[in-house]
Parts: sequence; structure tokens; C-alpha cells
Amino acid sequence: MDDKVIYRQINKDYAYWIEKRRIGQAKGGQVAGLLTHRQAGQIKQNILFDAGLGTLEGLADCCEDAFWDEPLIIFITHGHIDHHAELMILSEIYCQRRGQHIHDIRRPLMVCCTAETQQYLYHTHRYGYTDGETLQPNLLMPEIPVQVGIFKITPLAVDHFEGAVIYIIEFELEKSHKIIIGWDTTTLPLAPQQLERLRYPSLAVLEATTWTSMMADTGHSSVADLVKTGFLEQLQLQFQPEQEQYGAYLVHYSGWEDPGGMLTDQQLKAKFDQTFPSFAPIVRVAERGQCWYFT
Ligand SMILES: [Zn+2]
Ligand SMILES: [Zn+2]
Repeated sequence: MDDKVIYRQINKDYAYWIEKRRIGQAKGGQVAGLLTHRQAGQIKQNILFDAGLGTLEGLADCCEDAFWDEPLIIFITHGHIDHHAELMILSEIYCQRRGQHIHDIRRPLMVCCTAETQQYLYHTHRYGYTDGETLQPNLLMPEIPVQVGIFKITPLAVDHFEGAVIYIIEFELEKSHKIIIGWDTTTLPLAPQQLERLRYPSLAVLEATTWTSMMADTGHSSVADLVKTGFLEQLQLQFQPEQEQYGAYLVHYSGWEDPGGMLTDQQLKAKFDQTFPSFAPIVRVAERGQCWYFT
């Protein structure tokens, strides 16, 4: 039976196209990903991870218009505006579209996040949570998994911002899979109990905001941090696409804060391979709209 999961990187950057244009990138937006479970040609569930600037444009570019009629739940990683700026506009479009009948207005979109994150979402998108009735909070506790269809989603608290989490997604089709949504970390989650949960993913989408280690200035981990802390090695990644083992893909790269300046994705990958040849086979740079398939 046609039963598959698709993870799609809707956007991948931290610097927006205004900065990225200088290196020839005309389009893009801030990190957001879409997880889809498709069964027998039907979309059973879409789950959007973050909804920052460029999400609506990314969804329009990467998805069929049918997306707006498919079941949707949203998970937000943390309260920084670059991860939820378009949340309320998105929920307005999703909920206020008429269905077959003029009274077919949809129920509010469920937005899953920690209580601390919810405070930021409420202040920024208040209308959606009140009179607009297009947003409905569902509070998460770190370490406590929630089940959404076939997906078990566990938030893992990280050092970045109050209430910040990354997400571990586990599901079983013919094979068992684990996807790590690992963007926005200041210090990397290196505690043994965190690593225990993160090991052996089918796909790890990881933040590297700069090349150079400069977390004190940016609040973000870098390419150098991923390698030098031993985090990448601890994850036990494999790149065997035919086995649906995709290794790690870098997101949230900006480079405009980097002393060495911004690199294009190709330059970033080339520099990575040259500097850290032993990790070259398992680390790549995510492309906008890139999809990974799981069966
Ligand atoms: Zn952040
Ligand atoms: Zn961010």
C-alpha cells in the first residue's frame, strides 16, 4: 500500500533574502519544515514546524493548493519571532477559507508549544487566539511525547531561549524512523540523557548559523561547534539514501555575522568537506523545498 512520510524543508535560512541576495540567492525565508503522512493517495496529516517569515511563500512554492484543505497541526520550537512571524496570517488563511458551504469555517488550528513559548505567541498573535478564533494552544512539556497520527513527537528542552525545544519525531511504517528537528540551539544538547534520545536518526536537520564558533555573540551554534563538541560524532549518523538514512542537513545558516563573510550553500559544503573530511559523507546543506522520503 502507498503509505509514506515526506519531510520537506520549506525554508532553511536565518538571514532573509535581503542579505542572501548579495550571494545570489533571490528567494527564501526562515526555517520551517513540513512533515506529511500520505496513505493510499490521501494526506492523513500535515505537521508544520515553525512559521517564520517566508513560510506562506514557501508553502505556495513547494505544495499543491490542496495543502490548504488537508489536516494541519503546527509545532513551534520557541518564541523568537523568526520562528512564528506568519503564524496568525497562516491560520487566518487556513481557517477562514470557505469550504463547499458558506458556513464551512474551520475550527482553530492547534498550535503545540511549551507554556513559555505560548506567552510569546499569544502576545504576537493575540487576535488569532481571541476574537479571530483561528489559533488554539496545546501546551507541551519537555520530555513528554505527544502522538499525532502515526508520529510520536518528543520535545527536548535546549539552551537557547526560555521554553525553547527541539523535536524528535519517531514513527513506524515498513521501517522505524527518527527525524530530528534540531534548529536553534546555543549550546548543543550533549548531556548523556539527551544524546541517548537523539542517536541513530534517519535524518537530522541541524542548526549551524555561522561557520565560526561565536555563540556568545549570536546565541547560536556554528558549523565548528557541531564538529568540535563531538555532537555530530555522537549522533551516529549514516548516509545511505537507498536505506532512507540521510545523515545530517544544515539549516539556519546565515553567515552574515561570520568574520569570513557569507558563503553560498555550495561554498559552505565545499569548505566543510575540506575542513572536516571525515564528516563529509554524512553532512550536507539543506536546500529550500528539499524533500526526504520514508517508508
Ligand atoms: Zn532563536
Ligand atoms: Zn532562529
